[in-house]
Amino acid sequence: MMDRYSRQTLFAPIGAAGQKSIGAKHVLLIGAGALGTGNAEALVRAGVGKITIIDRDYVEWSNLQRQQLYCEKDAREKVPKAVAAKERLQLINSEVEINAHIADVTADMLDALVKKEGFDLLLDATDNFDIRMIMNDISQKHGVPWIYGACVGSYGISFTIFPGESPCLQCLLKTVPLGGATCDTVGIIAPAVGMVVAHQVAEALKILSGNGRDCNRKLVSFDLWKGQYVSLNVEKLKDPECLSCGENQTYPHLSFENQTKTAVLCGRDSVQIRPAETMPEGRNLGVLKELLITQGISVESNPYLMSFHVEGHRLVAFQDGRVLVHGTKDIARAKTLFHRYLG
Ligand SMILES: [Zn+2]
Repeated sequence: MMDRYSRQTLFAPIGAAGQKSIGAKHVLLIGAGALGTGNAEALVRAGVGKITIIDRDYVEWSNLQRQQLYCEKDAREKVPKAVAAKERLQLINSEVEINAHIADVTADMLDALVKKEGFDLLLDATDNFDIRMIMNDISQKHGVPWIYGACVGSYGISFTIFPGESPCLQCLLKTVPLGGATCDTVGIIAPAVGMVVAHQVAEALKILSGNGRDCNRKLVSFDLWKGQYVSLNVEKLKDPECLSCGENQTYPHLSFENQTKTAVLCGRDSVQIRPAETMPEGRNLGVLKELLITQGISVESNPYLMSFHVEGHRLVAFQDGRVLVHGTKDIARAKTLFHRYLG
């Protein structure tokens, strides 16, 4: 145990003091997919003090090609990613305190969580641009740095944002193309994930070890298949009129909250429904399951979610009231099924 971090402390910029600092820090990781599992494993192995992981999904077979913490059993049993990740991470390093939440990130919950926990760093591992924009505002509002990361196909991009210093994601959006395709429409190869993770973790280790001044102030992007690597100086893009990071901050993405109750999941042929209220008292998954079974519907379940097939669609209901309707991008159709079987 004593020399667990010896190779890392031998690395001069970290040293014993840096290691001690890493061990005292708390990181919030949003998303436990490909980027999330890569980041989480590296930080847990590096001895971060505490990590909080939020993810809304469960493990599927198509995840196993690149989401390094999961195994076939997790996919077979549809284990929520937050739960499967925590279990595996705790086996890797029992000294790290790991909090895992199965939840959809909303502006309100993130605001409350960051206020309560006082994170030292926010790590972006989501596949969702709306959530990134919420993280961007939260980072500015609470003065916590965040590391943006995204990948698709053989392409990846990453940028470290220090509130009050760097241009924020909102500033970059005007000139740098950041959105577009997702891995569900054009696929992804694992090394593209690994490359973004490498950038994010290196930056994270600088910040957590007290070497934030060494952070890369450039936006990096690359295409591993084409062998292209770009490092872009974006400091000039900081916009004094930016509503997220400029002189008159209104944090616009923290107030659009109520508009995204129902969302088509990017390229997944699935709709997520998030009821306005949490499940009424006494109407938990167990009760819903009984009701479905009495209608002759066969239901698979684990302690966190239940899943069943109806009318050509698979519906997955989570304990927090969220429901995923697979096999459609049609919100009206998804809502009908939701009300017919779960509402
Ligand atoms: Zn900005």
